[in-house]
Amino acid sequence: MKKYDAAIAGGGVIGGALALELARAGLRVAVFDRQQPGQEASWASAGIISPAPESPAMIVTVPLAKASVSLYPEFVAQVEEISGRNVGFRPKGTLEALFSHDTKAELSTIIALHHGLGLKAEPLRAEDARELEPALSEEVEAAVLRPEEASVDNRLLTAAVLEAAQRSGVEIFSGNGAKAIWREGNRCAGLVLQNEKVEAKWTIIAAGCFSATIEGIAPYAPVRPAKGQMVALRADELKMERVLWSEKIYLVPRNDGRILAGATVEYAGFDKRTTAGGIEKILSAAIDLAPGLADARIEETWAGLRPDSPDHLPILGPADLDGLLIATGHFRSGILLTPITARLVREWITEQRVSVDWDRFSPTRFRAAAANSAQRAPS
Ligand SMILES: Cc1cc2nc3c(=O)[nH]c(=O)nc-3n(C[C@H](O)[C@H](O)[C@H](O)COP(=O)(O)OP(=O)(O)OC[C@H]3O[C@@H](n4cnc5c(N)ncnc54)[C@H](O)[C@@H]3O)c2cc1C
Repeated sequence: MKKYDAAIAGGGVIGGALALELARAGLRVAVFDRQQPGQEASWASAGIISPAPESPAMIVTVPLAKASVSLYPEFVAQVEEISGRNVGFRPKGTLEALFSHDTKAELSTIIALHHGLGLKAEPLRAEDARELEPALSEEVEAAVLRPEEASVDNRLLTAAVLEAAQRSGVEIFSGNGAKAIWREGNRCAGLVLQNEKVEAKWTIIAAGCFSATIEGIAPYAPVRPAKGQMVALRADELKMERVLWSEKIYLVPRNDGRILAGATVEYAGFDKRTTAGGIEKILSAAIDLAPGLADARIEETWAGLRPDSPDHLPILGPADLDGLLIATGHFRSGILLTPITARLVREWITEQRVSVDWDRFSPTRFRAAAANSAQRAPS
């Protein structure tokens, strides 16, 4: 029987980065993926690195997100050095365009919110925004520049992370997914694969939106897929340096000249088809934000499945079974949160402490919530 210090189910960017970090800390690590690793959400993503919360409920993730942003340059440098590959990191800031007629009030609310959370944000007049980003529509009334934000080419990053993990001694098994966790009393002893068991001191579930399909995991990680459709455009005459946002859309320039536009958020099970309605919505919002894109070539369309949790927050940390850790539920922020997720799991395993409080994201919170609601239910 194979035996490891850590057995990881899932070879997306999260499983790959965990494996790399643990192997570099001296552990014997294996990653098991049910297919070719790195082909799911981590491939489909837009790769925006933005700690700004998308809704008030996400404010609790800001400390985690800020820690991850500050780890990013070092993480990229390490992955690039070990893998020998470039990952298309663009620490150029992002720019949010405002179209409303009351931009003054909107601007001051956004800036105050960011500053209150310790995030850098600068108000820009429309003409200053267009000077920075000439592709912006004439209809834009004002903008917010977030200079500390960035983007990364998530496809390159995921492939490089997996390569770096392998070069650091991690064994990666494709086409050999986990059916279940191997439970022995109150302990998780490893993984049950298709035709064998693997023994591990630490078992880590990082199978993205598929995590709950592994027997024994649903109580800790009741994740479901949130489909996102994306379009890649090419407009050689259009200059775009930063990620541009509007209320409806984001545009992400890549080093290879492509501009990614996305994304829908749909709850459609494990369906990854693109639809006419989804692509139409993305394209019309993209052209509203940067009208020059009307002449762009459509190079690719695709959809991917984000791992969403019931409260939309990540699921990170030890379960109440000895030796079992969960690292999923990153929803719309898995690329952003990759370095801090890997760091915290490694700290927990090697030092039994974490440098950023992760109790709020505990995998035991769903069991506690289920027990509370059962108690409250009328008999
Ligand atoms: C359209 C879109 C846009 C996005 N944009 C952004 C963004 O701009 N910024 C950002 O930070 N995040 C973004 N995200 C979210 C981010 O991509 C995800 O949160 C992140 O990639 C999740 O990584 P993961 O490794 O957990 O999951 P995945 O990449 O889905 O990897 C899970 C892996 O587990 C494997 N697996 C499945 N079942 C099993 C099993 N039983 N046993 C073993 N392995 C198994 C799968 O084959 C897969 O390789 C976006 C996502 C989408 C879809």
